[in-house]
Amino acid sequence: CMSKSVFIIYTGGTAGMKKSKKGYIPCSGYLQKLLLKNSKFFASGMPNFTISEFDPLLDSANIRPTHWEQIAQQIVENHDLYDGFIVIHGTDTMAYTASALSFMIENLKKPVILTGSQIPLSESRNDAETNILLSLSLIASYHEIMSEVFVCFDNSLFRGNRTTKVDADSFSAMASPNFPKIVKAGVYIDCRTDLLRKKPLDESLVSFSRMHFGAVASIRLFPGIRSEYIKNILQPPAQAVILECYGAGNVPNNDTSILDTIREAV
Ligand code: ASP
Repeated sequence: CMSKSVFIIYTGGTAGMKKSKKGYIPCSGYLQKLLLKNSKFFASGMPNFTISEFDPLLDSANIRPTHWEQIAQQIVENHDLYDGFIVIHGTDTMAYTASALSFMIENLKKPVILTGSQIPLSESRNDAETNILLSLSLIASYHEIMSEVFVCFDNSLFRGNRTTKVDADSFSAMASPNFPKIVKAGVYIDCRTDLLRKKPLDESLVSFSRMHFGAVASIRLFPGIRSEYIKNILQPPAQAVILECYGAGNVPNNDTSILDTIREAV
């Protein structure tokens, strides 16, 4: 059967970094060079791939909403030409980019998989190779039924907008604690196809851009939080505030000034 094709958007992150005197640094063209030298990426059953690289490559701590727009635009422009998309990204803000993309592109009909690694591909002991290989082979096997944004890490595939970074140095850096894993890759690939979003049939692709930079803030509640603190965040430039509450969405209600402040803001 015809070989599948994948469009890879390489934004930066540890996966493609090179060792230098100043520690690991992103290096243009370096990841491509390593992939081309590695026969595993060209084994039978592997899809063809094209890589588009960010200039400059970014440590994901520097990712901003304009970069989400760039990624979304590349996916939308190439949507009909490829069987799926891989976004190679640092783990630090991978969960944010996955979430943003999942809402920015509506009626997506192809899989979009974010991945990266804790150790660069250039090291002999690394997790980049497995993460990228699994992402490629999942697209080859499941592109007909997958049509959403995922994160692939440490032999698991997660729903993108339910992920969070949970570990700074284990290979299991990413998890989706409130949503089951979609794929567990062991000796066999165990895919929970019942969890996949249904592929939209006729609806055409809609992409939302023009993000309101910094106009959306978030407040993470903590024991002893004071209403003045919430009032400060509600000042301009905030146009919307996301409350990160406890558990199922609980807020302290003995200190009535907190609920009063929220009510007033609404
Ligand atoms: N600081 C790096 C980044 O997020 C770490 C990583 O690649 O995982 O870009």
